[in-house]
Amino acid sequence: MTAVLDLAVRGGTVVTARGRARLDVYAAGGRVVALRPPGATGMEARRVVDASGLYVLPGMVDTHVHLMDPGDAEREDFPTGSAAALLQGVTTIVEHSHGWPVTTVARLDEKLAHLRGRSHVDFGLAAHLWPEHMGELAALWASGVTFFKIFTCDTHGVPALGTDLLLEAFDELAGIDGACLVHCEDNAMTAAAEARLRAAGRSDGWIVPEWRSRAAEEVAVAVVALLARLTGARVTVAHASTPDVLDEIARHARAGAPIAAETCPQYLMLREDEVATLGTLRKFTPPARLRSDEEEARMWAAFNSGLVHHLSTDHAPSTRAHKAGHSIWDAHFGLPGLDTTTPLMIDAALSGRTSLERVVEAYATAPARRYRLAGKGSIAEGMAADLAVVDPAARWTLQDSTVHSRAGWTPFAGRDVRGRVVATVLAGQLVAQDGRLLAERPAGRFVSGPGARTRGDA
Ligand SMILES: [Zn+2]
Repeated sequence: MTAVLDLAVRGGTVVTARGRARLDVYAAGGRVVALRPPGATGMEARRVVDASGLYVLPGMVDTHVHLMDPGDAEREDFPTGSAAALLQGVTTIVEHSHGWPVTTVARLDEKLAHLRGRSHVDFGLAAHLWPEHMGELAALWASGVTFFKIFTCDTHGVPALGTDLLLEAFDELAGIDGACLVHCEDNAMTAAAEARLRAAGRSDGWIVPEWRSRAAEEVAVAVVALLARLTGARVTVAHASTPDVLDEIARHARAGAPIAAETCPQYLMLREDEVATLGTLRKFTPPARLRSDEEEARMWAAFNSGLVHHLSTDHAPSTRAHKAGHSIWDAHFGLPGLDTTTPLMIDAALSGRTSLERVVEAYATAPARRYRLAGKGSIAEGMAADLAVVDPAARWTLQDSTVHSRAGWTPFAGRDVRGRVVATVLAGQLVAQDGRLLAERPAGRFVSGPGARTRGDA
């Protein structure tokens, strides 16, 4: 008897964190139901994707994304940002926006209602831990947020948690097995540097790395990692920017802290001194740190060795007009990243800086496991049928004109890359192909965090 399934992806090479194999992928009911050697009989599907000569990766899982919706639609919104994600094979995101923070269960409900039908990819939502809403932590976790975003410094209008409140939050998180993502820069050090730079009348690009110094990041990471160790809270350090920061996190992890490091392409590929000439277009924090080819090689070695637990974009778009129209002090921090992270990492793998297996692990499997996004991040029977099909023979150039984010530009414009996502499958449906969206309407669904039993689709 021949089973007729929803989708078959035939002839490709399936890549997971553990290796690669020539396998046909069959999907039904949104899940992978079979993996078979090419040419296996008895399997038919209503839709067939020919993946001959192509790689079949799990859909990427980007757990640090800001789509400003609700918040600031001039910068991005869910339809535009999630379309950019989908076209580059990212099928799950975890989103939070500083301009419209989820600080209470009522705010979470309001955001979920607003986002109904607006996401092209599956999405979880993170909450912000706000000093005056510490009491909401357990209720938010039970309502299905993926993690809590915490700041150790006043940034993007989000207030810092001091060491006292960090300890209180970590204690409570450990008690409910909750997760958090911590932006680590020391508040006193960044504030003092800012006051000094402003008093000196500085407004050049170099203020960014002087204000948001390596030392300020290292000090905050040391405190956060120690508190994670003392409390047992599941802490992820956001956007770790140097091998030294990664070493410090690893030291505490070896001593038993349930801590992990996230990094982003900008810390693997952008140079510190670009801010001197490009100013606001390189204003993000922590800033780019790379000063030499040797430092770049060290950061890639850290990525490949597993000192980096997982990769995210920290997609925080602003338009070129915004960046150009404001001083280095007044422009928003942040870079767009959803259009470029998959292509840059695939290119890095195809050119030998890393492997496709490691890219899949760092940008899909590991973040899905860390945040317990059930069924996401790998290709196996029973997992979500979320796939990114990659043509390794493609050659193209990243340009502002290839960006689908409302940002409309990329810091990686002009980079030639090998490999291209040519098809994206979400829940067993072919939703993007050859750079075009195929779905009539956004098909992404809300993915509840592990603290909630179930919550309706959004
Ligand atoms: Zn961020």
